[in-house]
Amino acid sequence: MRRRIAVVGSGPAGLAFARVLHRHGHPVTVLERDTGRDTRPAGGTLDLREGLGQLALEKAGVLEEFWTLSRPEGQAMRILATDGTVLRDWQPDPGERANPEIDRGQLRDLLLRPVDVQWGRAVTQVVPQDGDGALVRFADGRQETFDLVVGADGAWSRVRPAVSTVTPRYTGVTLVETSLDDIDTRHPDLARLVGDGSVAVYGVNRALVAQRNSGGHVKVYAQYRTEPDLHPADGAAETNADAGAVRAALLALFDGWAAPVLELLRHGTAFVRRPLYTLPVDHTWAHVRGVTLLGDAAHLMPPLGAGANLAMLEGAELAEDIAAGPPDLDAAVRAFEEQMWARAGRWAGITTAGLERLVSPDPAQALALFDAVQPS
Ligand SMILES: Cc1cc2nc3c(=O)[nH]c(=O)nc-3n(C[C@H](O)[C@H](O)[C@H](O)COP(=O)(O)OP(=O)(O)OC[C@H]3O[C@@H](n4cnc5c(N)ncnc54)[C@H](O)[C@@H]3O)c2cc1C
Repeated sequence: MRRRIAVVGSGPAGLAFARVLHRHGHPVTVLERDTGRDTRPAGGTLDLREGLGQLALEKAGVLEEFWTLSRPEGQAMRILATDGTVLRDWQPDPGERANPEIDRGQLRDLLLRPVDVQWGRAVTQVVPQDGDGALVRFADGRQETFDLVVGADGAWSRVRPAVSTVTPRYTGVTLVETSLDDIDTRHPDLARLVGDGSVAVYGVNRALVAQRNSGGHVKVYAQYRTEPDLHPADGAAETNADAGAVRAALLALFDGWAAPVLELLRHGTAFVRRPLYTLPVDHTWAHVRGVTLLGDAAHLMPPLGAGANLAMLEGAELAEDIAAGPPDLDAAVRAFEEQMWARAGRWAGITTAGLERLVSPDPAQALALFDAVQPS
């Protein structure tokens, strides 16, 4: 008997789940709050790792297409001191495939193609039905029941309360994102500074990372330790505030850093503020029949190159487990959760310790971390 399965969210977790179920001929309902594919900018570049995101793409049957779109040269990494001195300049070998980059929009389109997303379906609540599936309530007042509801709805999940009372906590670090377009023609000096991949600068309790996306687009991430209410650019939260005021606040915060580094902020256009929140490293829950979580909804961690990778692999694995067709759907979900918690807990520990070192009172910590993880 075919079970009625819904996934809430069409981010990396939800799409990988739906794409792999679809590949195995299993129907799935994808419920997405956004009203369309292009309602929001897709976001920056993601590095997809061997054995994690790449494995998920293989399970989804799109790994070969990924190789045609991804940017292996985007693995290049340069580290500068705040005075502009080059401390490290790492270039990947030709053929290096450990962590190639891909734009989020391209990744989404790779996974989305055969999947039928129900746009504009904002979920407000999921209520388990005494061991017999779960009821989904929507913002427009409608409701539907499913045998299994998979919460892949990100950091501020509306599905999570059905299984856990835990909520994300502020890490003490805020990230402000801005971007530059057409960098090779409009800002050739900055294009050389960023190179084919990323440039990172680490100071006392501050860091600035600029990453090349495709098409001459560069995303710049300014990160710093601050109390949430003392943010110098308050009011920018998640949307464009007064770009001039945010830029001026950031230039004051990074005052004294090398001029070319500050130029990255000076030429940035829209600014988006993202205070970084995480779930506890060991977040798990007592299993609830009919509901589970994937990705950031299950294990929100600092953005250090693991979140989307784990989200996709979990989506692909749960879909394969379900498609394998065990008579007891609940047993498959239960076994999947144990596996997800163990792996996510390890990565949550690594990324939490990583954030402490990358935005730290001692910038030498960041360099030591880079040396420890970078292939020589
Ligand atoms: C600046 C930055 C850089 C990052 N870089 C990397 C990287 O290089 N590599 C990496 O692996 N990870 C990276 N991450 C982390 C990564 O973005 C997340 O871990 C990943 O997006 C999680 O995927 P997800 O599908 O679980 O959730 P999301 O991507 O958050 O997707 C959730 C989806 O659910 C939808 N939704 C939300 N609420 C509802 C609702 N109530 N009803 C219906 N739909 C809803 C949303 O609209 C969205 O489409 C980065 C994060 C940030 C902030």
